[in-house]
Amino acid sequence: MSSATLIAPADRHAAIDMPDLRPTCSCPECGHVLRVSGLGRHRVYFELTDERADDPVMDRVCPVCGHGLPGKNPP
Ligand SMILES: [Zn+2]
Repeated sequence: MSSATLIAPADRHAAIDMPDLRPTCSCPECGHVLRVSGLGRHRVYFELTDERADDPVMDRVCPVCGHGLPGKNPP
């Protein structure tokens, strides 16, 4: 048995220092990033700054450029 295997790897704390895993979607037109909740036709977009997700983006259009966001017509 090699003693080297007893040393804990550096990524041991990776599970603790978790990044924000909430899914996001970027506008295909301007790149504005929105948080996504739900799937397919039930998809709802929120601003990343909307921590409580109480102000959904209406009409599935980018609040910055007005470009239609994906989700209305499932592939
Ligand atoms: Zn946009």
